[in-house]
Amino acid sequence: MPNEFDLIRRFFHGPTSHTDLGVGDDAALLRPRADMQLAVSSDMLVAGVHFFADAEPGLIGWKTAAVNISDMAAMGAQPRWITLALALPEVDETWIAAMARGFRDCCEAYCVDWIGGDTTRGPLNLCATVFGEVPREVAVRRDGARHGDDVWVSGWPGMAALGLGYLQGRVDLVGDWVEPCLDRLHRPIPRVALGIALRGTATAMMDVSDGLLGDLAHILERSGVGAMLEETILPLGTLLAACKRTELANAALLGGGDDYELLFCVPREKRGQIEALGRHLELPLHRIGRILDKSGLWMQRGDGVCEAVAAQGFDHFSGVN
Ligand code: ADP
Ligand code: MG
Repeated sequence: MPNEFDLIRRFFHGPTSHTDLGVGDDAALLRPRADMQLAVSSDMLVAGVHFFADAEPGLIGWKTAAVNISDMAAMGAQPRWITLALALPEVDETWIAAMARGFRDCCEAYCVDWIGGDTTRGPLNLCATVFGEVPREVAVRRDGARHGDDVWVSGWPGMAALGLGYLQGRVDLVGDWVEPCLDRLHRPIPRVALGIALRGTATAMMDVSDGLLGDLAHILERSGVGAMLEETILPLGTLLAACKRTELANAALLGGGDDYELLFCVPREKRGQIEALGRHLELPLHRIGRILDKSGLWMQRGDGVCEAVAAQGFDHFSGVN
């Protein structure tokens, strides 16, 4: 049975590209570039809560890195370094090797150095801390949304929720859409290039992890504003193709988390700039509504009628079946 140090040497040591001292000492040594602020964030994934304990370990590793890197994207920061603290119920070398491979693959895809962590025995649990760099004063926070901004979301929000519903036996999906939805659930793609491109343009931004409406409510609260979503422009097409049910597609879009898309606000006069950015990044960017000067979250229906919507109503996608 390998001891902790064998495990660390075999699975957690790896090359770094911009780190003075990585795994193996009491601490790593980093050198942030001049005039950069450090952005720091941690996210923990617990077996049975955030992933199925018997899920493929490579995917668990990928997702643990990805959800952390996504927090850097959401600040407009460049992710640079990451640590992984790990509790394992047993030493299963095959599992550890596959998990470490998935974690490292995601780090490499985003040029992030894996520089340390901790390994201990306990209920299966992975906690990463990511460090990013962002030039002073340009990080995109949650509190800058203003009346006159458009509200945008990237990619295909809701697909991960459909994938989860499918795995739980609550949702039927059209055959061809099963894999894409599961892929969105298991292998989220942090929108780092988008986040960085929105520095100086987005007034507020966050990544969608808990559900579009609930997360938008955080931006509104921090910014002291309200928002009007426009039903006719919501990106429902892909979701409808996948599940063929309007109500379910709506619930997945507005209440599903786990896609790690970016939700952001941009002054209306920069609409063309955002459309051009989407083309440049080959990533659909959907305008979904606008920021109001009165508080609250509203939906403008196709017939022009506006109704208040309750963000909490969509907290649990599981409520809709
Ligand atoms: P200490 O006892 O000084 O805290 P550890 O024995 O916990 O040191 O760790 C030894 C080295 O291995 C450290 O550099 C630490 O960052 C690294 N390490 C431990 N676990 C992990 C892990 N899960 N991922 C990456 N590095 C790890
Ligand atoms: Mg330690």
